[in-house]
Amino acid sequence: MAHDQNAMNELHWLIDMVQTIEVGLVVLDRNYNIQLWNGFMENHSGVSPNSIKGKNLFDQFDYLPDEWLKQKMESVFLLKNRAFISWEQRPYVFKFGNYRPITGRADFMYQNVTLLPLSSLTGQITHISMIVYDVTDVAINKLQLKSANERLEHLSQTDGLTQLHNRRHWQVCMQREFERHSRYGDATTLVMFDIDHFKRINDTYGHVAGDKVIQHISHILKQSLRETDCAGRYGGEEFSVVLANTNAQDALSFANRLREKIAASEMRYENAVINVTVSMGICDLSKPLSNSGEWLSRADQALYDAKEAGRNCCMIYQDKQ
Ligand code: GH3
Ligand code: MG
Ligand code: MG
Repeated sequence: MAHDQNAMNELHWLIDMVQTIEVGLVVLDRNYNIQLWNGFMENHSGVSPNSIKGKNLFDQFDYLPDEWLKQKMESVFLLKNRAFISWEQRPYVFKFGNYRPITGRADFMYQNVTLLPLSSLTGQITHISMIVYDVTDVAINKLQLKSANERLEHLSQTDGLTQLHNRRHWQVCMQREFERHSRYGDATTLVMFDIDHFKRINDTYGHVAGDKVIQHISHILKQSLRETDCAGRYGGEEFSVVLANTNAQDALSFANRLREKIAASEMRYENAVINVTVSMGICDLSKPLSNSGEWLSRADQALYDAKEAGRNCCMIYQDKQ
């Protein structure tokens, strides 16, 4: 008698815990009819156990991904193995609001769900249980960390004044394009350019005006680029662009258009109108080069030639021998 009493107590406690535990518990039969729906599920769905018991899970919640979920559940029935659904795979299975006042950063509850086979006394799998964990806090933290890392990565690759790639990151892109050319042989051209007599601009209008000129030119440059072009601020008033799928002649047309646009533009600073020009050096990869450093120094040599030729012009690299 005392033994029975203990067993009854234990069962009572177990039922109590199942009802109040902060984890969702659902038991389904072979046809996905709901046999158990605990307090957590009731609180978050607003549907009471009495009104849902015996009803088909997929009829009750028509947003559930039937085919996908049934496939997972079938494998639990057949293989007698557990299955897991992670929030990273699918943010939630049950569409529950996120009621937590402190962490109220998500519109819905992120969930991890475990599917467990439940065996009958004869050892057959007649039911499965769904265990639903609220992982909103973990998910939000992880997502925020990810987006913070992405922002940091962007910052570490970007030049603050112009929002172009900074030198280090641009060199990585340039190296990648150089290697792509070595493998596939696509026409690829490097353009370096430098503002003419920039010292004069600084001396006449001041450093702040000089910075504005750098931003102004970057703006015009960005408007001229295609998605596949890679442009950076190589140095103080030097810019560099890798043009994908472009030979030297086409790069020359691009460079001249950009150069003319810059020369024709007027930048206003306080009461002054500042006119600037740039000189450009161009080098393609039609002749084999041993490394990307050589490519860069050839484009730089062509830029030097453009300065020598009187500035506000574009030059393609020429072999001097
Ligand atoms: P050139 O036509 O031969 O290129 O003449 P330049 O005066 O432009 O030549 P140089 O490269 O000798 O001078 C560039 C000047 O640009 C030197 C430096 O004071 C200035 N400078 C470099 N970086 C910045 C920057 O970020 N902001 C400003 N305002 N000036 C810069
Ligand atoms: Mg310079
Ligand atoms: Mg200069």
